Amino acid sequence: MQKGTIGITTENIFPVIKKFLYSDHEIFLREIISNAVDATQKLKTYASKGDFSGELGDLTVRVKLDKEAGTLTVSDRGIGMTAEEIDKYINQIAFSGANDFLEKYKEDANAIIGHFGLGFYSSFMVSKKVEIVTRSYREGAEAVKWSCDGSPAFEIETCEKADRGTDIVLYIDDDCKEFLENSKISELLAKYCRFLPVPVALGKKTEWKDGKQVETDEDNIVNDTNPLWTKVPSTLKDEDYKNFYRELYPMSDEPLFWIHLNVDYPFNLTGVLYFPKIKSNIEIHRNKIQLYCNQVFVTDQVENIVPDFLTLLHGVIDSPDIPLNVSRSYLQSDANVKKISSYITKKVCDRLQSIFKNSREDFEQKWDDLKLFIHYGMLSQTDFYDKAAKFSLLKDVDGKYFMYEEYKDLIKTAQTDKDGNLIYLYASDKEAQYSYIEAARAKGYSVLLMDGQLDSPLVGMLEQKFENSRFSRVDGDVIDRLIRKGDAPATELTAEETASLSGAFTSRLPKLEKVEFHVETASMGADNVPVVITQSEYMRRMKEMSALQTGMSFYGEMPDMYSVVLNADHRLVKEILTDVSASVSARLQPVEAELKGLRARHAAIEQTQQGKKYDEITQEERDELNKCNDDINAQEEKKKTILAEYAATNKIIPQLIDLALLQNGLLKGKALNDFLKRSVELIK
Ligand code: ADP
Repeated sequence: MQKGTIGITTENIFPVIKKFLYSDHEIFLREIISNAVDATQKLKTYASKGDFSGELGDLTVRVKLDKEAGTLTVSDRGIGMTAEEIDKYINQIAFSGANDFLEKYKEDANAIIGHFGLGFYSSFMVSKKVEIVTRSYREGAEAVKWSCDGSPAFEIETCEKADRGTDIVLYIDDDCKEFLENSKISELLAKYCRFLPVPVALGKKTEWKDGKQVETDEDNIVNDTNPLWTKVPSTLKDEDYKNFYRELYPMSDEPLFWIHLNVDYPFNLTGVLYFPKIKSNIEIHRNKIQLYCNQVFVTDQVENIVPDFLTLLHGVIDSPDIPLNVSRSYLQSDANVKKISSYITKKVCDRLQSIFKNSREDFEQKWDDLKLFIHYGMLSQTDFYDKAAKFSLLKDVDGKYFMYEEYKDLIKTAQTDKDGNLIYLYASDKEAQYSYIEAARAKGYSVLLMDGQLDSPLVGMLEQKFENSRFSRVDGDVIDRLIRKGDAPATELTAEETASLSGAFTSRLPKLEKVEFHVETASMGADNVPVVITQSEYMRRMKEMSALQTGMSFYGEMPDMYSVVLNADHRLVKEILTDVSASVSARLQPVEAELKGLRARHAAIEQTQQGKKYDEITQEERDELNKCNDDINAQEEKKKTILAEYAATNKIIPQLIDLALLQNGLLKGKALNDFLKRSVELIK
């Protein structure tokens, strides 16, 4: 027997491994099994090249659990190792600055393991002792047994081993007993070893016999050695892709379509990406692209490898050229990874483009599900925008689809305003904004439906990209002001009349939390509605954006601001005006006269103070101005009260307001109930 010390410069690596890699320690299984698979693959290669002429036989890698002995054993029939090879590959792990490195990358077990070639040593994360029992494939090779209890000291001796290959025996730590459970190991094998290229068996298959579960002779193979992405695309049918998708994501809907990736220059990459049908946000987070390296599962965190927007896709990427033994942040700057990322983007674009070209109908059918990905890509990557703009669609409220250029041509004549701007009208809710849509249609305008999750930032972006164009939601203003064809027709009302109408309506507007109304008048034609409520495009967008991104909470806190527009041309509004004048003009006249005088005086005082420095103005002058202000306010209040008293007696005003609120979904609760009662009374 020979004894020795493992060639590491740190006093003892094992406690370090355990401590730093704690969170990821299940990957020991992946490391041990992929070593077994590598050894098996090597033997196959030697055989095919004539360097090995013995029988290959059954090459299954076997995982065995022995609860009593407390061991987990991984056995292969691969190339095995001689005593010299053990010394070279296992004993001499030399590195420098280990502690610094470990400290830096302690979150990232892949980086550490890759950096030190510590695959095998990761077994010490879960074991108090590890044995290697191995016999090389070379003729006449002697079997050797290496063992190490977690200190830098190891033992090596010759032993008996009937078969070629390697057994790695892990004596599982007392605090890691879960790794002796069949269910736990089965779960880990499903995660890491599902598509390994050599059969892996976890014990034997069981069956029910006489009310008991008993083992059969058949191996319980846990992997598919020949997964779909390794096959030649021309040999595959749609059904094969769908089946594989179901295998990966059992609970998901059928995918929209897929892309088979296959490139061997300037880097190696295979895989299949699926465009999923996403029903909820939960799925986005649950199902992810899986990254493999030669069929060994590495991670499902592909953030730095595929472009951000494509992380929403599903499927598998397999590449030996993605450097996994580096930290995540390093990945972003790696030249290969950059190439891979742009390759994938290009493939996705080409595929979308070809579906669009070959079957526009099919593309349109899928558009509503697809647009989330495409819009996300367009918003996050300008080069993707440039490509996707050629096949992106706009959908109108009737469900018709248009390419950007097609739609522009469609609306160019009718929807260009007096300043030469092309106005894209859109609705975000077909039902809620029905009457606004109808008002636009009555003018011969087209209305887009923008009801997607990303449509509000998209609208902002398209506005920047399209020249001389603006997007306006149909309820942003009255239609003639959304697309101004000439100067807005002035109402025939005097300033006093406008003020009376506004005052009367304002006094009957509901007090809603975080909602502000502003009453104005407009000439909208006798056939139009008497009162309409609109919400400024600008404020609404700011609020929507603030909901999407941080740092804009200022806008989020602002109330919703609505304009209540009174149609001065409408019969009912005209009648109210006549009624107001008749009822209150006698009471208003002295107030108006008083106000006129006060305003004149106010202007005069200001005149005398103009140009003077603060301390050149006497206290008396200052007091006089303040008093004048107070008097004006008092008179304004009086006017308000008079108009409010009048409005309280008028049954039409609240009715018109409520109708407009109702149209916007703003009439609720008690207010809605009152409206219903009032309406019934009016019918009587
Ligand atoms: P890596 O696999 O990254 O080289 P490891 O520490 O996992 O690093 O393994 C070190 C070496 O030990 C391997 O390169 C291989 O030569 C040898 N080895 C490990 N496991 C086996 C095995 N089951 N059969 C044959 N050789 C093995």
